[in-house]
Amino acid sequence: MIDPVIIACAVFGLAVGSFANVCVHRLPEKKSIISPGSHCPACNKPISWHDNIPVISFLLLKGRCRHCQAEISLRYPLLELFMGVSWAYLAWHFGLSAQLVMALTLVSLLWILSLIDLETGLLPDVLTLPGIVVGLAFSLWLGNPVDSLIGAVAGYGVFWVVARAFLLFTGREGLGYGDFKLLAMLGAFFGWQALPVIVLMASLAGIVIGSLFLLASGRHARAPVPFGPFLAAGGVIWLLGWEYLMPLLASLVSA
Ligand SMILES: [Zn+2]
Repeated sequence: MIDPVIIACAVFGLAVGSFANVCVHRLPEKKSIISPGSHCPACNKPISWHDNIPVISFLLLKGRCRHCQAEISLRYPLLELFMGVSWAYLAWHFGLSAQLVMALTLVSLLWILSLIDLETGLLPDVLTLPGIVVGLAFSLWLGNPVDSLIGAVAGYGVFWVVARAFLLFTGREGLGYGDFKLLAMLGAFFGWQALPVIVLMASLAGIVIGSLFLLASGRHARAPVPFGPFLAAGGVIWLLGWEYLMPLLASLVSA
C-alpha cells in the first residue's frame, strides 16, 4: 500500500511542473505568469485544459500543437515528470511534516531556476530575491534565523569576493550576479553551515561535467557554462544528506 501523501504529492508535483514550464518560458522575458492563459508559442491559439494535462497530453498529441502542428519542446513533459517524481520522492523522504513543505518549495524553485539558467544563462531576480525571503521565513519556523541570515549574507559575499578575484586575475567575468543570489538563497534556507559543502559539490560537478561538455561540443574553453544547475544540485545534496554531512564536516574541522 503506497502512502496517500506520496500519491498526492506526485499528482500535485505534475501540476506544479506544468506551471513551472510557464515560469521557465515567460519569466526571462519578464512576462506575466498568470495571464494570458496557456497558449501555443507558435500559433498563439489558447490551449484547452484537456490538451494541458501533464505528460499525458504531450503523448496523446504526439508532441505537436493541435492547431498548427508545431512541435512542442520535450522540455515540457520532462519538467512535469521530473517535478512529479521529485515531489513524490521528497514526500517519501520527509513524510508529512513541516520539513516537507520547505523541501517542496525549495526543490520546485531550484528546478525552475536551473532550467532558466540552462536555456538563457540567467537566474532571474524575480525568483532568487523572493527565494531568499522565503528561506529566511522558513528558518523562523524550522531552523535558526541567525544562521540563515548569516547564510544569506555569506552566500552572496563569498561569491562576490571570488568573482572579484577572478576578474582581477583573468580580466574576465566568471560567475554572474545571479549565482551570488542563488547561493544567498541556499544560505537562507539551510544556514551558513551548508555553504562550504554546497560550493564544493557544485564546483566539483561543474569542473567534471563542464569539461566533458567542452570536450564533447568542442566549444571554445571560454564559452560560459551555467553554474546555477550545479549550485542547485549541491543544494539538493545538502537537503537530503545534511544529517550525514554535518558530522563529517565537524570531524574534518576538529581534526
Ligand atoms: Zn500552435
